[in-house]
Amino acid sequence: RQPTDSPLYALLKAAADYYRQALKSHPQRRAAVEYLKGRGLSGEIARDFGLGFAPPGWDNLLKHLAGDSLQHKAMIDAGLLVENTESGKRYDRFRDRVIFPIHDSRGRVIAFGGRVLGDDKPKYLNSPETPVFHKGQELYGLYEARKNNRNLDEIMVVEGYMDVIALAQQGLRNAVATLGTATSEEHLKRIFRLVPSVLFCFDGDQAGRNAAWRALEAALPNLQDGRRARFLFLPDGEDPDTLVRSEGTEAFQARIHQHAQPLADYFFQQLSEEADPRSLEGKAHLVTLAAPLIEKIPGNTLRALMRQRLTQITGLDANALGQMAAPQPRQQ
Ligand code: ATP
Ligand code: MN
Ligand code: MN
Ligand code: MN
Repeated sequence: RQPTDSPLYALLKAAADYYRQALKSHPQRRAAVEYLKGRGLSGEIARDFGLGFAPPGWDNLLKHLAGDSLQHKAMIDAGLLVENTESGKRYDRFRDRVIFPIHDSRGRVIAFGGRVLGDDKPKYLNSPETPVFHKGQELYGLYEARKNNRNLDEIMVVEGYMDVIALAQQGLRNAVATLGTATSEEHLKRIFRLVPSVLFCFDGDQAGRNAAWRALEAALPNLQDGRRARFLFLPDGEDPDTLVRSEGTEAFQARIHQHAQPLADYFFQQLSEEADPRSLEGKAHLVTLAAPLIEKIPGNTLRALMRQRLTQITGLDANALGQMAAPQPRQQ
């Protein structure tokens, strides 16, 4: 999938080393260190995740990695430099930001995320797609989670870098983040190759709830029997980072234990809100929404059980439901 010996890897590693060193010793690092401390991060967890600092200025990394115009070209390919199309001027992509290196499953640096130290916009900047970085496939923190868990049996999917790191600092070292993109089938294929169980835990806001439904849709085609997906919905205004820091590890684990909702429950609860099964029309609508999704499930037993639940809710017999599952010709 990815070129195994791309020259970009060495460049990305050199950049990660530079950013990491800058967080330790750059004369202007103070604001970045204070920012991370203010967000409750320890030096230890910052080291664990290889966090760094891109100092203010247009050409710190450019000068540090120096080189000829061939090297500059490679740095552009790696997403480290940006070239202005009109002037041809090249400058550092990441400036005055905390840097989160993104690793592939083998631990190689393939991209970066950068966060401003305050409330400026855009809050986060990520590497662009490059020959070694494909956003729809990579999961931030997966390498770290595997490294720190001999017996990983469930992976938690969250939205952001800080969620992954805050959870890890609290001892919950199994979180990964999609990188500002929706959870894809490809992401879930990856996860289910490693563990039989996934827990989605997105932000307690409308964007987070939308992300949960999209994750459900991506999970369905990956649900062989023996696998499960669960959803933990957070109180309004909270994300995993704020919540685990305010309530602590045990309470957060108890919350998972008590409130993580099995995919099938969330599925029928959500669809019953869209199509009220108290009326016949609602039941009919519910079937048109639910049946095609249920058919995406490869696990024969789970699929049969979900069909059965749909027949219970609607009173429609299994035969009629079987006809519904086939794609319906659009009417009128
Ligand atoms: P923080 O806690 O640092 O303020 P967050 O992670 O809670 O940020 P969200 O707004 O919830 O921020 O976004 C979740 C994730 O989506 C971010 O961690 C980042 O990976 C991605 N993201 C957010 N905004 C952007 C953006 N402007 N460009 C690219 N990715 C973004
Ligand atoms: Mn959010
Ligand atoms: Mn946050
Ligand atoms: Mn958030």
